[in-house]
Amino acid sequence: MLDVPPVPSADVVGQLLALGVATGGVLLVHTSFRAVRPIEGGPLGLIAALRQALGPEGTLVMPSWTGDDEQPFDPAATPAAEDLGATAQLFWRQPGVVRSDHLLAAAAIGPRAAAVVKTALPLPPHTPDSPVGRVHDLDGQVLLLGVGHDADTSLHLAEILAGVPYGIPRHCTVLRDGRPVRIDYRENDHCCQRFALADGWLRARGLQAEGPVGHGRARLFRAQDVVRLAVEALRREPLLFLHDADAGCADCDKARASCPGGGIIHRERS
Ligand SMILES: [Zn+2]
Repeated sequence: MLDVPPVPSADVVGQLLALGVATGGVLLVHTSFRAVRPIEGGPLGLIAALRQALGPEGTLVMPSWTGDDEQPFDPAATPAAEDLGATAQLFWRQPGVVRSDHLLAAAAIGPRAAAVVKTALPLPPHTPDSPVGRVHDLDGQVLLLGVGHDADTSLHLAEILAGVPYGIPRHCTVLRDGRPVRIDYRENDHCCQRFALADGWLRARGLQAEGPVGHGRARLFRAQDVVRLAVEALRREPLLFLHDADAGCADCDKARASCPGGGIIHRERS
């Protein structure tokens, strides 16, 4: 696949604008560079194209949390979780990029960067007062670039707003008075594959733009649209995002078992 020519930067900017990236807006990007390469300049070329499409008044946001629950977080040194990809890993190290001070970090650049990422430690990770929640409140767009809605963390915000009954025990480690302290919490987590339902909700209402960016496929929508539709669906059916009990999904089974009463809630068939 790498013998195809790199997409020139100017073309990537054109693709982003054609998709509907709002110049001057707030844009949260989840990406797998592997799925969109080759692009001129590699992951840094992609970051430059995103910034150019957003313009000087726009704010670019990427997830930047660590996968390490055992070590205190240092925003200047702790790597982002590997599954966030090469672009997110490079992004927080770029000059001018602001990163949250806590382990559930996002990174951002642009006029609203601090307003998005400078939150207190949000537990669970995607509360209304988390970076994802702030993107939502600022009416930001979400760009899924070479990834699907299973990477769309705004749907975890929707789960919290809808009050889903599942919560997996998790912990993290923070520094207090210079000493590492363990914090236990419950997180609305599962395999996230059924987040793909959001494609149908958004497409049916014409609220998701889809098209090529680089050599990959992109989805673009407003955070407020996907969250609103997911909250409506979850209020009707709180376990909608969990695989059925007979589907053999260990992550969803764990989430189901964490519900009061073991998650025996009637699922509507539609
Ligand atoms: Zn599952």
